[in-house]
Amino acid sequence: MKGYAGTILRVNLTTKEVKKEPFTEELARAHLGGRGLAAKIIYDEVPANADPLGPENKLVVASGPLSGTRVISSGKTHFSAKSPLTGGYGSSNVGGHLAEEIKFAGYDAVIIEGSADKPCYLHIDDDKVEIRDAQNYWGLGTITGEKKMKDELGDDFQIAIIGPGAENGVPFGCICHDFGRQAGRTGMGTVMGSKKLKAIAIRGTKSLEVHDKAALDKVVRQMYEDCKNHPEIKVWHDFGTPSVTKWCSSTIQAFPTRNFSSGHFEHDDELKAETMKAKITRHDKGCNMCAMPCGQYTYSKKHNSFVEGPEYETIALEGSNLGIKDIEDVQYLNFVTDELGLDTISTGNIVGHAIEAFKKGKIKEEQLDGIKLDWNATAEIVKLIEKIAKREGIGELLSQGVKKASEVLGTQEYAMHVKGTEISGYESRRRGSMKLAYGTCNVGGHHNDAWAILYDANKGDKKAEKVFDLQKIRTGFDTLGACRLPWVELGIKIENYLDALNAITGFNMTMDDLMKTHERNNNIMRMFWVKHVPGFGREFDQVPERWYKEEEGEVKADAPIVTKRDYNKLLDQYYKLRGWNKKGIPTQKKLKELGLESIAKDLKKKK
Ligand code: SF4
Repeated sequence: MKGYAGTILRVNLTTKEVKKEPFTEELARAHLGGRGLAAKIIYDEVPANADPLGPENKLVVASGPLSGTRVISSGKTHFSAKSPLTGGYGSSNVGGHLAEEIKFAGYDAVIIEGSADKPCYLHIDDDKVEIRDAQNYWGLGTITGEKKMKDELGDDFQIAIIGPGAENGVPFGCICHDFGRQAGRTGMGTVMGSKKLKAIAIRGTKSLEVHDKAALDKVVRQMYEDCKNHPEIKVWHDFGTPSVTKWCSSTIQAFPTRNFSSGHFEHDDELKAETMKAKITRHDKGCNMCAMPCGQYTYSKKHNSFVEGPEYETIALEGSNLGIKDIEDVQYLNFVTDELGLDTISTGNIVGHAIEAFKKGKIKEEQLDGIKLDWNATAEIVKLIEKIAKREGIGELLSQGVKKASEVLGTQEYAMHVKGTEISGYESRRRGSMKLAYGTCNVGGHHNDAWAILYDANKGDKKAEKVFDLQKIRTGFDTLGACRLPWVELGIKIENYLDALNAITGFNMTMDDLMKTHERNNNIMRMFWVKHVPGFGREFDQVPERWYKEEEGEVKADAPIVTKRDYNKLLDQYYKLRGWNKKGIPTQKKLKELGLESIAKDLKKKK
């Protein structure tokens, strides 16, 4: 098979067994790789009653068919497992330099199963695979730990590592790589922690054969030219994702502010991209083959902290959502959260919830062990985040995520999550497509699968259709192993990615074939929920109650609030487009049409 390594590595941490299995062309054609392949593996192999933190859960680390080639921005690695945060489908990706290293070591994916009895790390050096002792690393922060590991193994090893939060079982622990990049969402790091796996260190020195090198060169050259000549490229080099901060807050009022009580932050000038660049940015930083590096490496003199970031989501959740009005404070919170190995989005969301709950008397002063919790109280917020990472005092309750914590506190009406995943950086009361995108995202409250806020802002009226299309295309990027930003921001054509895929693999797919593959993979992700979560259906696609109520403070509304009735109408339209029933469950007909006969049989048995 061209473009693939042709091997899946399987490591059992209980038995210490290491196996190399063929990655068949049938499997590659049906699911391609990355997120799609990982979804197929965890659907097939993780039993319905598996404890997400038990040995039966499996973590899949997957590269995509574009990984290891010169296709632009093809440095994304995908992680999937049953999520300890939601109990459903878990998935997250990270940029950097891991995906190509996996490929060059001779693998398309690594499946990690079982649990070690003491801290270990996985050492992969081409064909040589070892489970090594990691007691010296356990307890180290992610940046400190990655540095130590690179110092010991050599800079040519790529490292994926977890921090103390994930080791302690906080269900939104992330997997960190390349000094500041994270597979942040749904607790994939916590799954590593439960297996006592501190890190994966990998070095690959092999090469990769492609089907048609000349055709690949041609399309890649075109993609680079289109990026280079795009009028917005300078904005990306200069600012990265923070370039949307001011627009989100002041133009479209989508900037989560004080636990999503508003979409406009009155101090947004202090957090906007130009302020960040003037005060803290040192240089940009990109993933493998990136033509538009969006990473911003920063230094805060106030806190003496270096970090990659904050990027937009962190500015939103650990900035305005906490009422923080100094970009240096956001940068420091970013550094603290990264080092502890927690997802900045979930952390910012939960801390915002805790501040509001405290102000409304639902958390008592005596529960806070002296922390003076308030908006914009950076030093106090740091103390709370440390307590969450250690699961100590009030941190034990908050560490369970906003859904579970709110059920105990009686604060569900302002708990900002979908399916148990804390909502990311877009306030969406008045935005039908974005509400639907959050409601139906396969990992819960995340914008990854459909960033539809721009469509709403431009008054698009085919909302359900837009979300359906975006979900196919954007999850498709995760499957191919590429970053979607050149497509979203610089308009690189989706046809170019198809041409590149065909040049690499020789699969000769049409655009319809590619979209059908993405739809197939999306349905497997949906069916993972059906398999694992009793009573799964429409209820799980609902958005928070707060999004049906007016904002607090001054509102420059450009559209009415999308009511629950209208939201449910959108949901009906969306289910119909998907070929799912009114409860949001894929039909037998749809599953069979997508070639998912065995999953259709599972569904029949379940009924
Ligand atoms: Fe990585 Fe950003 Fe480039 Fe995407 S645009 S590949 S996230 S540096």
